[in-house]
Amino acid sequence: MDLYEYQGKELFRRHGIPVSDGRLATTPDEARSAAQELGGQVVVKAQVLTGGRGKAGGVKLADGPDEADARAREILGLDIRGHVVRKLWIERASDIAKEYYLSVTFDRGAKKPLLMLTKEGGVEIEQVAAESPDALARLHVDPLAGFHPFAARRLIYAAGIDDPDEQRQILPIVTRLYECFTGSDAMLCEINPLIVTPEGEVRALDAKVTVDDNALFEHPDIAEMQDLDAVPPEERAAREKGVTYVKLDGEVGILGNGAGLVMSTLDVVALAGGRPANFCDLGGGGQAQGVVDALEVITADPQVRSILFNIFGGITRGDEVARGILQALGQMSISHPIVVRLDGTNAEEGRRILAEAAPANLHVEPTMLEAARRAVELAA
Ligand code: GDP
Ligand code: MN
Repeated sequence: MDLYEYQGKELFRRHGIPVSDGRLATTPDEARSAAQELGGQVVVKAQVLTGGRGKAGGVKLADGPDEADARAREILGLDIRGHVVRKLWIERASDIAKEYYLSVTFDRGAKKPLLMLTKEGGVEIEQVAAESPDALARLHVDPLAGFHPFAARRLIYAAGIDDPDEQRQILPIVTRLYECFTGSDAMLCEINPLIVTPEGEVRALDAKVTVDDNALFEHPDIAEMQDLDAVPPEERAAREKGVTYVKLDGEVGILGNGAGLVMSTLDVVALAGGRPANFCDLGGGGQAQGVVDALEVITADPQVRSILFNIFGGITRGDEVARGILQALGQMSISHPIVVRLDGTNAEEGRRILAEAAPANLHVEPTMLEAARRAVELAA
């Protein structure tokens, strides 16, 4: 789960990392009152779950309430890399002397958390890593030995930060960001830029935090930050029902049982000249209710034009799946054409059940390739 900047900053604040005072706004009017409350110059920032907002015109300074209102009008509704701006973070503006970068992430190769710090912040870290790798200080943390302040000190020296006053302030920020990372079960905690003001004060001006979805149950306070409006309805349904669901950009909705079969179904749909809209993995069970849930999720995706069921019965029984399909068709009105390929355990019985019921929009095909061709044809 990705957090918005303002949510990431809330986490930072709780962990004692200095951030600027700010307010959330969803209308120009709210932006105006936020600016009034904060006083002085403010910065109006688009809250979208993507980076590069500055370059896209999603971060603008405003010299008071009137300007905040005007900037809010410009930024609200803006499309930033496919994300429409619906929320703004109005923050007391900072004067910037230097822009640094600090992050904690996982180095999966080393199987350790990785701290990165550079004086060349403000730009994307990939650019720093490519153009001036020597400027980027990297330090792994041994999760068994734990984090010690000397690690932060080494990182700061390696990054070439030699001002004692900056060192004194950045030291606890590194420690606290690491605490925030482990304490929130985060996969990424990034501050870019970590600024130094002309007065020498160090502060986090941006926040990018990704929390491990599998650990959200341990962090109800973070879980409730989830913006359900930003999640497409079918993904929300999939989460609620515990259905394994992945969104893609084609037209054929795919249901299969087992990751391997689903993956090859995607390939066969492509081979047949089509494009998968999404897929659900029914897993090993494939009970009727699971099929109903998966069909609800798939049909909630407006891009779906036809549905391809690909079931190879092992533990999953063909007759169960057939009953599930019929039960789903009885419970909900599905207008999409559905193509079914059933093989393996109890496949014959399953096909017989489907043939007897014979719903008008149901097509049973004997092989995976024929089923894929039919589904692609019906999606055209
Ligand atoms: P991003 O583009 O999505 O990474 O958004 P950031 O929050 O990092 O903001 C982009 C850039 O806007 C920063 O690198 C700063 O240069 C600038 N910026 C953000 N906040 C302020 C501020 O309070 N004062 C000034 N002067 N510039 C700011
Ligand atoms: Mn940034």
